[in-house]
Amino acid sequence: MKSLTHSSWKNKPIDSKASIAMIEKIYEALQRASSLLEEKGLEANMAPILMEFITNKNRASLLADLREPLTDEQRKAFWNKTGELLEGKPVQYVIGIEYFYGYPFKVDENVLIPRPETEELVYGAIERSRNLFHNKAIRVADIGTGSGAIAVSFKKEWPEANVTATDISKDALCVAMQNAETNEADIHFRQGDLAAPIANEKWDVILSNPPYIAHEEAVQMSATVLDHEPHSALFADEDGLFFYRKLAETLPLLMNRPSLIGVEIGYLQGQAVHKLFQEAFPQATVETVKDINGKDRMIYCKIYE
Ligand code: SAM
Ligand code: GLN
Repeated sequence: MKSLTHSSWKNKPIDSKASIAMIEKIYEALQRASSLLEEKGLEANMAPILMEFITNKNRASLLADLREPLTDEQRKAFWNKTGELLEGKPVQYVIGIEYFYGYPFKVDENVLIPRPETEELVYGAIERSRNLFHNKAIRVADIGTGSGAIAVSFKKEWPEANVTATDISKDALCVAMQNAETNEADIHFRQGDLAAPIANEKWDVILSNPPYIAHEEAVQMSATVLDHEPHSALFADEDGLFFYRKLAETLPLLMNRPSLIGVEIGYLQGQAVHKLFQEAFPQATVETVKDINGKDRMIYCKIYE
């Protein structure tokens, strides 16, 4: 998420006459919205993100046009959506979009908002796949695709790949299909439980960011996530390890030789997930990789024979 401080409009004098006449300049609306968000302990930098969306300006134009008045329509839309932010709704759901790997993804409450950590999973998977397969027309599956972020970005970066995306949620698949279409990525979609929709076939690359948060961790999570993002995308049984155990059980029959598995993990799950995959694939090279914050975040399993 872009994070520019709102100091650039914070010190501008408020033109009280203009406010009375219901003409609100961009910086005035930003100032007021930022203060309201801060008072509620919410992130003030959601205000300029919303304003960019409402005015259809990028950040540079927004800063250049801070003294421009909002149209009546813009002002109403801005305050209407600020109301949603003040209720704790994530800004990505309010504006209906998040960028992932440089591509725009429509998001609504049926899908997890794709996270920057997951971009690292995709990047690492592409890098390892290039070494293993060069530019071959590999067969790739993304299990639990949500918004389609992993599948679509992989296909955009590796156009020769044959990419299949699955989810147990029909509503999520509906969003993912729209994202494949708007990003002009040709992806096959299948609905079903974990590896079931891709069984009886062999794959070169299988990626997944499954739900991995232990139910007990809910108490530490922000209301913005907890009250708005789908719990079926976040939580997993067995201390959050359920889906990794299932994947480690089912994937050995589905992998080509050579092949690559890449999964995102919770930062405390490195050792446990490493062990699950190493036991399932005794000959494989299993790597635990940290994210840019220095936390265990990905497991890659390279299967040679
Ligand atoms: N891949 C997306 C991303 O990285 O932004 C979404 C990941 S989200 C953490 C997990 C996804 O797995 C959700 O879309 C959820 O619907 C899906 N899911 C949950 N249980 C599943 C299951 N048993 N089989 C397949 N998908 C499942
Ligand atoms: N990284 C997400 C979060 O912290 C969780 C995603 C997941 O469970 N796979 O909210």
